[in-house]
Amino acid sequence: MRDYVKLTERDNVAVVTHDVAKGTEIIPGIVTLQDIPQAHKFALVDIPKDGEIIRYGVVLGYALDEIKKGAWINEHMLRLPTSPSVDNMKWGTNIRTDLPEAPRKSFMGYKNPDGFYAGTRNILGIQTTVQCVQGVLNVAVEKIKREILPKYPNVDDVVAVNHAYGCGVAINAPNAKFPIRALQNIAKHPNFGGQLMVVSLGCEKLTVDKLVGEENNTPKNVIVLQDCKGYDAMINAITNMAEKKLQALDKRRREELPLSELLIGMQCGGSDAFSGVSANPSAGYAADMLVQGGATVMFSEVTEVRDGVNFIAERCVSEEVRDKLADEMRWYDNYLAAEQVDRSANPAPGNKKGGLSNIVEKAMGSIAKSGTSPIVEVLSPAERPTKHGMIYAATPASDMVCGPCQLASGIGLQVFMTGRGTPYGLAAAPVIKVCSRNEMKEQWPDVIDISAGAVVTGEKTIQEVGTELFNFILDVASGTKKPYTEQYGLHNFLCIFNPAPIT
Ligand code: CA
Repeated sequence: MRDYVKLTERDNVAVVTHDVAKGTEIIPGIVTLQDIPQAHKFALVDIPKDGEIIRYGVVLGYALDEIKKGAWINEHMLRLPTSPSVDNMKWGTNIRTDLPEAPRKSFMGYKNPDGFYAGTRNILGIQTTVQCVQGVLNVAVEKIKREILPKYPNVDDVVAVNHAYGCGVAINAPNAKFPIRALQNIAKHPNFGGQLMVVSLGCEKLTVDKLVGEENNTPKNVIVLQDCKGYDAMINAITNMAEKKLQALDKRRREELPLSELLIGMQCGGSDAFSGVSANPSAGYAADMLVQGGATVMFSEVTEVRDGVNFIAERCVSEEVRDKLADEMRWYDNYLAAEQVDRSANPAPGNKKGGLSNIVEKAMGSIAKSGTSPIVEVLSPAERPTKHGMIYAATPASDMVCGPCQLASGIGLQVFMTGRGTPYGLAAAPVIKVCSRNEMKEQWPDVIDISAGAVVTGEKTIQEVGTELFNFILDVASGTKKPYTEQYGLHNFLCIFNPAPIT
């Protein structure tokens, strides 16, 4: 087992793979000057005041004071560099064509009549126009699951698409397009099989017409609670409509489909300094295989790519894609600046405890999950893709907000990398958990699906863990395996991204 990881020749710091006591000669000629916690950095050379601190071959920051060889480097010891400019970024200079061969070329999915990507699950999704209906809907859904769903064995679940949007909001504000688009596209999610069902209150700003289109606003699809005579009528209206939709969904069958029918999302959260060493590069390798096999993979989280955006731009296949990437970064820079913050509002305290000193270090690890494929399209938050391959879908980095944005974009499942651990999950699509270190898997053996910890210790390669993950992704997409979050029903509330005013 190795004691430290140095990622590139240029790096002047390395990360310890386990807690190392002060006074340890970790490398011949380098003795640790303090206790160094697992995943944290130490200096490989003397670094002068204002000197560059380099990891991943990039400058993470500048030393606030002189740092001696062997010293622990924590987040208080470096100054954040300025973000790379998004003007005139080079594009197309790093287009890789020799991606690793996908060992499997098909999966078992639910083909959809609208021609969009296939479903990975067969779910009755009940849309809501407004938060006000949630209480009634939740009671009805419990009843449906208890009394009706067991009659339809080909349907996996009934999910209330609850959210906090819909009324008390500036619905005509320019930025209201984000939450509205998210909810419109979630209603079309491939796992819902085109069976539309909406519960509305009746007086909300997000009207049924606005949510699903006038053509879909029919008594076959829509229940308006204010039109129901009393509570029992509301519950009965919902359960009766649900039964009809379940009858239709029960006819859906999985079929063998090419990987071009598969769309998945990548996200990370609760990251540590190993995320960029083990879990994210392994996910990146799996992503490369998926793309090689014809699948579409998206990665997101603007603040967590902002400092490495030039590495994404050089993989963009056209000027148009590069321009949209730049536009998304500018939009987010302005969004943050309006509240007098910048991307340094990320990382979280747990990230720092996990050895991530700042957002540059976090970004370099985060981008690793996108692998090396060419980037064929950039999406605004909650847009649906139109191309196949690797896609950058701009979203906030917040796990709870990125998840719904990617759902709206149509992902059949999400692969979620973590170093510190999070039980986050989505109701409408499975979430696979990949951890960065062995201790995390030991702590949560029955929450984490795949550990990339053996990459840290040098016992497995990125290719080995990446291939294991690729196969697990296809098994989960095909319904032959369920990740732990799905087995337990760990479902987070859908936080819909709403940068527009609440009234
Ligand atoms: Ca995240």
